[in-house]
Amino acid sequence: MIVQMRTGASTGNLEQVIGAITAAGHGYRVIEGTERSVIGVLGSAPSQDLFEHVQTLPGVEMVIRISKPYKLTSREFHPESTVVTVGDVQIGAGMPVLIAGPCVVEGRDALLQTARAAKAAGAVMLRGGAYKPRTSPYSFQGLGVEGLELLAYAREETGLPIVTEVMEPEQVELVAEYADVLQIGARNMSNFPLLRRAGRSDKAVLLKRGFSATIEEWLMSAEYVLAEGNERVILCERGIRSFDPMTRFTLDLTAVPLVKELTHLPVIVDPSHGTGRRDLVAPMSLAAIAAGADGLIVEIHHDPAQALCDGPQAILPDVLRQIADAIGPVYAAVRSPVLAQRT
Ligand code: PEP
Ligand code: MN
Repeated sequence: MIVQMRTGASTGNLEQVIGAITAAGHGYRVIEGTERSVIGVLGSAPSQDLFEHVQTLPGVEMVIRISKPYKLTSREFHPESTVVTVGDVQIGAGMPVLIAGPCVVEGRDALLQTARAAKAAGAVMLRGGAYKPRTSPYSFQGLGVEGLELLAYAREETGLPIVTEVMEPEQVELVAEYADVLQIGARNMSNFPLLRRAGRSDKAVLLKRGFSATIEEWLMSAEYVLAEGNERVILCERGIRSFDPMTRFTLDLTAVPLVKELTHLPVIVDPSHGTGRRDLVAPMSLAAIAAGADGLIVEIHHDPAQALCDGPQAILPDVLRQIADAIGPVYAAVRSPVLAQRT
């Protein structure tokens, strides 16, 4: 349930509504809009009594039931789009952002070379795994703390904020010491203790869609983070499992406009894991922007054949530059008023 206050409602009016909500055993969240405040009621479905009582309180314009199981995440609750700010980078503010880097941090020189190339190609954030969720326990698992230190060094050298994965709740504090954005990977989308812990961090969270997760399950996972007080969540579509082995996953670009309709959170796309094939990264990057994505996260490598992880989907920095150049006109085209009516 959300309570929309009238323009000019007093602090006393607001407090009276909050008093009624808390007396009924609910939590609440106040969103200060440019003209009026909105109060979101948290927890289980509010009673009919509370619904009717709040409608009679002074300063209340409207009380609306939220039909979705995710509340804080829904656009019903928060009609204005959220812009997630990381340093100087704004995600969800308009022009799509490009995040790029290696799948995994391999070493100091390689990372620095890649970070510089990413920046030169137009990337505004650097990605790279220090802790990797590998299908096989015998595959390279990442450099751990050393990888985090190298990422921080690359940030110092290039100024690019860092996106890196955290896999366990106990790791959040450590990874947050180095990272600007905590990535929660597809395999951990339903790791609820991890989501809660990330929700208590002051770092932005990049939440990837699980490859067998419905859109509603994905948004419920975002709700875990928001419910703990962290509203800086960036959703990332990274492909779902389907029947065709021709691609590694099936990039579900339908999710982009759909999720932007259902939620206020920015949505970016990972065409690297979404396809698993470097020849498909550029076309799907442009398709993602055409679908309205707020950005892309792309794996690059100077020598993909030697990459320690995900070489077949890594593109060369030159190709990233071409993608960056091509995004602008696509974005300009989809901003036309006709297409804007989709959302
Ligand atoms: C990654 O981005 O490095 C990664 C492992 O992605 P995902 O969780 O989407 O598989
Ligand atoms: Mn990868």
